Amino acid sequence: MCGIVGYLGDSNAKDIVLEGLHKLEYRGYDSAGISLYNLEAGVFDMFKDKGRVDHLASLLQDVHGSTVGIGHTRWATHGKVNRANAHPHLSSSKRFIVVHNGVIENYRMLKRDFLSHVRLESETDTEVIVHLIEMFAQTMEAPEAIHETLKLLEGSYALLVLDQQRPNRLIAAKNKSPLLIGRSDRGYIVASDLMALGKHSADYAPLEDYTMTVIERDKLAIYNRDYIEATLAFEPMDFDEDSAERGPYPHFMLKEIMEQPLVVRKILSHYFDEETLVINEAIVHDLRESDRIHILAAGTSMHAGLIGKHLFKILTGKPVEVHIASEFAYNPPALSDKPAFLMISQSGETADLRACMSHIREVNQPVVTLTNVRTSTLAREADHKMELLAGPEIAVASTKAYTAQLVVLTLLAYAVGKQRFNIKQELSTLAHAMETYLAKYERIDTLAKTVLTKPNAFYIGRGLDYAVALEAALKLKEISYIHAEGFAAGELKHGTIALIEENTPVFGIISDKRIALNTRSNLDEVKSRGARTVIIALESLSEEEDDIVLPDVHPLLVPVMTVLPTQLIAYYAALHRGCDIDKPRNLAKSVTVE
Ligand code: GLU
Repeated sequence: MCGIVGYLGDSNAKDIVLEGLHKLEYRGYDSAGISLYNLEAGVFDMFKDKGRVDHLASLLQDVHGSTVGIGHTRWATHGKVNRANAHPHLSSSKRFIVVHNGVIENYRMLKRDFLSHVRLESETDTEVIVHLIEMFAQTMEAPEAIHETLKLLEGSYALLVLDQQRPNRLIAAKNKSPLLIGRSDRGYIVASDLMALGKHSADYAPLEDYTMTVIERDKLAIYNRDYIEATLAFEPMDFDEDSAERGPYPHFMLKEIMEQPLVVRKILSHYFDEETLVINEAIVHDLRESDRIHILAAGTSMHAGLIGKHLFKILTGKPVEVHIASEFAYNPPALSDKPAFLMISQSGETADLRACMSHIREVNQPVVTLTNVRTSTLAREADHKMELLAGPEIAVASTKAYTAQLVVLTLLAYAVGKQRFNIKQELSTLAHAMETYLAKYERIDTLAKTVLTKPNAFYIGRGLDYAVALEAALKLKEISYIHAEGFAAGELKHGTIALIEENTPVFGIISDKRIALNTRSNLDEVKSRGARTVIIALESLSEEEDDIVLPDVHPLLVPVMTVLPTQLIAYYAALHRGCDIDKPRNLAKSVTVE
C-alpha cells in the first residue's frame, strides 16, 4: 500500500519528492527512502531508514538540489520493518535502483529459478525485481530489460526505476497498484496519488495496467504490454491544494469530522439541479432492472454498505446482499439471473475489490463504483461511477468519506425507488443538525476520558443502529487500540454478555422508536452486571439521564447523525491514550494489497 513518487525536471527533485512523500505518508509509514541524483558526484545517492518521512528528511539536511529522484514510504507486506527492507532497493552492481508498491506473488519462484546466484540484501518480494532487471540488462537496453522483467512478475506493482548509466531517464511501470503521471513546463512527476502531483502538474494522466513509461526531459514514451508505443490521455489538473491542509485543527481526523456538514452540502449541490435529483439514468435503469443488488466493500465502506442495504430495502423493496470483498472474491455466492453490483471504495484502489471485479466480469452484469477518487482504477473499470465528493481524506481512520458514502447511497436508493418525499430539504436539515451538534464537539472529551478506562468496550444497537455500532467499534479500535465490538443489542445476552465486568463501557445507540425500549432493556441487563452504560439517543426518544442527545433528522438519514458522537469518542479516547491519531499503528489508508 506504500506511496511512491518520482520527479525528473528543472525544479529541485529533493524538495518535490520529499513533499510528495509527506502527502503520500497516509498510505504507509513503516519506513521511508529516497534516491537522488548527485550533480557533483555524477551518481544517484540513496538514503533510507525505518520511521517516518520527517526522519528521512532529517537525513537529507546536507543534500543539495537535484534534478532526478524517486522516493518511497512503506507499508510492509514482506519482511520486517527495518532499514534493509526499506525501499529503494539496489541491484548487485548498484546500477539499478527501484521503489515498488504492491506484492510480487511469485517472488520465491523467481528467486529460485533466476537468482539463485544472487545475494539478496532484504527479505522483501521487491528486491527480485531489481536483480532481474540487472540480469536482463546484461544483453539488452534497460527499457527492454524492464519489459522482460515485467513479463515474469505475478501480482501487483507500481514501480519506479533509475539507472546509474542513464541518470536523465526515469522509468515507471504498473499493474494493479495505482500510478499517475503529471507534467508541467518544469518537468514530470509520477506518484501513487493525485495529491502528490498537485501543484507540480499542469495536466495529468492515470497510467493503465501493464504499461511502462520512459520519461526523459524532452520525451515521454509509453509502451503497452506488447512493448508497442501507446498514447496517454492527459486531463487538466483540478486538485485543490488547500483541501489537503490541516488548517487550525490539531489532527486531520478532527478536521475531517468537522467538515462533514460541508460534505453533505457539496453532495447536494453536485447531485441536484435546482430541486431535481440528477443521477445518471443508466445507473438508475441498470439497478431497477436488476433482480438483486450485491454491495461489495471492505472495512468502513462495508459498514456503509450495511446501511445501504436498509436504505435500498426501504426505498426500493429490492433484495440486497452485502459482501466482504475479500470473501466474495474467492467464494462468490450463487448469483440470480440479473444481479447488479455496487462497489464502495473510498480510494477506488482497494485490491480486494479489484479481485472481485475479475469474477464479476465473467457474469457480464452492471457494476457501479462509489468512490472518492474520480480517476481511480475501480472508477475506470466499472460500467458507471458515482463520486463521493468528500474531498481528500488524510486521516487513516475514515469519517467524512464514510458519511459521504451514506448520503450518496441514500440518493441512489431514492432515485432507484419510487417513494417520494423532499429529500433535498431533509438533507439540508441534516447538514444543519450536524453542524449544531458538532459546534459543541468538545463536550465528548470528558465523557471519553471518564468512561473508556478499560481495555475493552461495546457498542450495541438494533437495525440501522446496529450497523452504526459496528462502525463505531471499528473506529474506536483503529485509533485508540481499545478492543471494541459492535453488537446487535439483542444478541449480547446469547453469550458475549459473559465479558461484562465492573465498569466495562457499553454504548447504546437509540434512534428507532419501534425498538428503542428493547435496546434500553438490553442496556439495563448489562448495567445490572456492572457495565458503565452510555446512551446515545435522538432527542425525541431521549430520557432525562441519557448521556448524548442528538437532534432528530429524517429516519433514513439517522445513521449520518448517530455516527458523529462515536467518531468523537474514538478521537478523544485516542487523544487521552497518547495515540498517533492520524496514523494509527499497522494501518494504511488505501489498501492496495489483498
Ligand atoms: N511488498 C513490498 C514490501 O513489503 C511493498 C509493500 C507495499 O506496497 O505495500 O516492501
